Amino acid sequence: MKNIAVIGAGTMGNGIAHTFAQFGYKVQLIDVSEASLERGMATITKNLDRMVAKEKITEAEKENTLANITTYNNLKEGVEYASLVVEAATENVDLKLNIFRELSDLCPDDTILATNTSSISITQIAAVTNRPEMVIGMHFMNPVPIMKLVEIIRGYNTSDEVTNTIMELSKKLSKVPVEVNDYPGFVANRILMPMINEAIETLYNGVAGVYEIDTVMKLGMAHPMGPLQLADFIGLDVCLSILNVMYNGFKNPKYAPCPLLVNMVMAGKLGVKSGEGFYDYSESKKAEKLAKQFS
Ligand code: NAD
Repeated sequence: MKNIAVIGAGTMGNGIAHTFAQFGYKVQLIDVSEASLERGMATITKNLDRMVAKEKITEAEKENTLANITTYNNLKEGVEYASLVVEAATENVDLKLNIFRELSDLCPDDTILATNTSSISITQIAAVTNRPEMVIGMHFMNPVPIMKLVEIIRGYNTSDEVTNTIMELSKKLSKVPVEVNDYPGFVANRILMPMINEAIETLYNGVAGVYEIDTVMKLGMAHPMGPLQLADFIGLDVCLSILNVMYNGFKNPKYAPCPLLVNMVMAGKLGVKSGEGFYDYSESKKAEKLAKQFS
């Protein structure tokens, strides 16, 4: 594995690109939006600067990491030499199916196709490609350079060989891979999202305020951040999409998204990335302080 194409330069894509590049891989970072590519590279630079300041890496390692990343605004050029593609575009089924149909045509026959989807079926994505045995879930956690877990999701047809390759590759990134099967929400979000949804429902029912709910979970359950703050970091639109995938996949009302979450997403309150969610991030210092607290 030498060339890794990462599709999407948003919250997750820039973290995935950063991580592969830091471990010496050549990364082709692809996004349809030039603004996202610029923001993504700025975030990677800022995060590397923070690592240099904390003496976790040297200035030379920072420069090498940045030099390993090239940006592209189209799939064709970005994936033509890729050994592995990690797709981290917006959480939307139709969008991902279109990307994987295109990847099927554009990538060399031996390219492994991975998706960082939080909840969409790997089997469904694999079914639109010409290589379902080479499609796999590689679910990194946010923030990618810091979080150790990678949930490795085997689709119905994913081969043992591809699973082993991706498990070993994750270890080379100094991550801990965990193998799971392909059902809505996999393991991480099947457990996390009902908790976040219940926290929003608790707020919606007027049981307590944002600060109170998050403080109960932080100090009472030793969670590093409260569920509402975590939802802001994940992105409220992402949380809503995941809940909808589980709701539709299991046909079980316990996964129905809280109406407050639906309203906030419709109103454009998406959390950190839009400047406001359950908390206000309009002053950049405040957002940085919260991010530091997490890292
Ligand atoms: P995001 O909204 O921050 O970024 C998505 C990026 O994809 C944007 O920059 C957008 O321009 C780009 N994009 C959209 N269509 C594209 C296309 N056709 N080709 C290339 N780029 C395209 O989203 P995110 O939070 O980074 O989530 C990305 C994926 O990672 C989703 O599948 C999500 O479920 C998953 N995920 C998110 C988190 C999280 O905490 N946010 C955690 C784990 C997994």
